Amino acid sequence: SKVLLTGGTGFIASHILDHLLKCGFDVVVTARSQAKGERILASIANAPNVINSIGCKVTYAVVDNIAQPGAFDEAITTNLPLDYCIHTASPYQLSFSDPLNDCLLPAVNGTISLLSSLHQHASPFLSRVVFTSSSAAILNPPHHRDVYDESSWPDDEVLNWDMAKDPASAPGDATYRASKKFAEQAAWKFMEEHRPSWDLATINNTYTFGPLPRSLEVVRGGTGGEDVQVKVNTSNERIVDCLTGKWAEEIPPTAPVFTFVDVRDVAVAHVRAMTRPEAGGKRFYVVGGYFSNARIAGIVHGLLDKKGEKEEEKDLAEMLCGDCLMYNDFPDNHWSFDNTRSKEVLGLEYRELSQSVVDTVRSLRAMGIGK
Ligand code: NDP
Repeated sequence: SKVLLTGGTGFIASHILDHLLKCGFDVVVTARSQAKGERILASIANAPNVINSIGCKVTYAVVDNIAQPGAFDEAITTNLPLDYCIHTASPYQLSFSDPLNDCLLPAVNGTISLLSSLHQHASPFLSRVVFTSSSAAILNPPHHRDVYDESSWPDDEVLNWDMAKDPASAPGDATYRASKKFAEQAAWKFMEEHRPSWDLATINNTYTFGPLPRSLEVVRGGTGGEDVQVKVNTSNERIVDCLTGKWAEEIPPTAPVFTFVDVRDVAVAHVRAMTRPEAGGKRFYVVGGYFSNARIAGIVHGLLDKKGEKEEEKDLAEMLCGDCLMYNDFPDNHWSFDNTRSKEVLGLEYRELSQSVVDTVRSLRAMGIGK
């Protein structure tokens, strides 16, 4: 079976690609340039362990801006028949100089144009589209619900298009959060209006940590090649900041309560949501647990303290998770999450924060970031 995976250079997409290959799918990834597409192919060639014995085929198609009308037409028509599509491509930054053109339109119009193009060209074979939405399309800060699950959406009073276009009048990341809310709503509306022969599932993952993509561009400068420049995805940035000493003076406060999930669990969620018949037509709130910056710092510092000693790979996470996860840094009666559907329908078993942070740190160090 063949899968179209959009945003192939992305952090989450890179792990979805690995999992698709392990499961024996052929994959067409979209990338914004030929150079990026080639980098993805090279990263796979250099990691033969991700390809299963069936020998899956990976190709790429260039889609440089998903906001352009018909952006996906060529990628789709030249790769038929397609059995599935996973749509991860979307701008993810905490602020945008041009919120409408840099974030909202690519997120919303990109989703609609992908679905329209699939409807028009890929329908006879396609069975499902999985859309990477976000917990941003579930949570309702600052007026939190007691317990969040898939039935929740942010109220219009707390997150609307006007705020998203003019983030000066709204909390910091309102543009990004609104882009996810409106893109997911547009996707469900498309399904209702057009009733295609295939169905839709969404993965509403929360803040995602985990190892960096192998295809990331690493630029080395300096005489000894010691200056390393890597564009790390937004959600891993706080682990980079901690590891590189930006929190040495003070650990920045986290929102009172925040949740995380490991990227490898998010990848499994996408692939199972794609293939399990009972996942069709459903949203999945994919969340592994709570975190705070203090808890991350505890894990990272535990890891740094162990530097020089012989690290027993197997026991590392266990060794670190003791004290640092005991911090009681959340307010009493904070909101909680219900991830039952993701466990029951997708069979997810979530990794712990310590495992996720430790593996992220290892991957950052392998790229030359942090000591
Ligand atoms: P990345 O920034 O690593 O990946 C985003 C991908 O989208 C990249 O491949 C990027 O291409 C592509 N992209 C962005 N804008 C455009 C555009 N205008 N035209 C074409 N391609 C575009 O982010 P993540 O992997 O973290 O995010 C992937 C998805 O997961 C997004 O939809 C995000 O909203 C969602 N998500 C992420 C969470 C997280 O914590 N990381 C949590 C919940 C949801 P390029 O690299 O070339 O710029």
